Amino acid sequence: MSSATDTEEVLITRAAKDIVDSHKTIALTGAGISVESGIPDFRSAGGLWSKYDPEEYAHISAFRSNPTKVWQMIKEMMDLVLGAEPNPAHVALAELEQMGLLSSIITQNVDGLHQRGGAKKVIEFHGSNQWLVCLQCGYRQEAVSLSFEEIPPLCPECDSVLKPDVVFFGEPIPWEAQTGSFEEARTCGLVLVIGTSAVVYPAAGIPTSAKQSGAKIIEINTEPTPLTGYISDYLIQGTAGAILPKIVEEVKKHIS
Ligand code: NAD
Ligand code: ZN
Repeated sequence: MSSATDTEEVLITRAAKDIVDSHKTIALTGAGISVESGIPDFRSAGGLWSKYDPEEYAHISAFRSNPTKVWQMIKEMMDLVLGAEPNPAHVALAELEQMGLLSSIITQNVDGLHQRGGAKKVIEFHGSNQWLVCLQCGYRQEAVSLSFEEIPPLCPECDSVLKPDVVFFGEPIPWEAQTGSFEEARTCGLVLVIGTSAVVYPAAGIPTSAKQSGAKIIEINTEPTPLTGYISDYLIQGTAGAILPKIVEEVKKHIS
């Protein structure tokens, strides 16, 4: 447990040592890690999600009953994501992976920024908005190949509405992502929980599952979460883009 007197510097040094000492480290990331790339999380004031209530717009029943309305939101999200670049937090995680100190990144994000930041082993727990799928016939196509001038886009095979290959509320998690993530959680010694409010299940259960198998949990977030003080060993409070590069610099001192 961290004490109130622990400074950011002390916690960064501690996190670097925990990473170096761990036999296997994984990261669980959420929308907060992409905020510094200009993509708002569900809790940011202003922006996309104050216009579109995610509970309403990101539910599969809303998509089925009014795809044109939901596609307004999807189109705005796509525009934001296509214009976004990975930030120092994405790059720092990719660097840890290259150093052989990060086994995988389990992300709840659908923006593809971990891969664009250089990470290789990324489990997309909630799918990806890089692909569109047809719920009727299974046709798939890359999102970048569409201009989205006409929404909703239709399947060229069967004329049904195409849907981004992301997991909407009310939809199951892709089987491979779910089993792969919980296997990583069960077998790791440390989880970095970054920029997630840890309220959307089953993803939010990953740190708890890891903890039950004996792993340490470090949170990096601008705010405490329901995990803080219960599941996480300590919280480094601040922005991911500032904290993660500092941890990586500290790790380098240990291994050089
Ligand atoms: P969330 O919006 O519920 O929570 C974001 C968390 O990040 C909060 O705890 C917040 O305090 C923290 N945060 C904000 N800025 C931060 C920063 N700069 N550094 C560190 N932490 C910061 O997001 P969630 O937990 O990922 O759950 C929401 C769901 O929304 C997810 O399933 C995700 O798929 C989806 N979503 C994805 C994107 C994306 O792909 N970029 C964007 C919005 C929502
Ligand atoms: Zn089709």
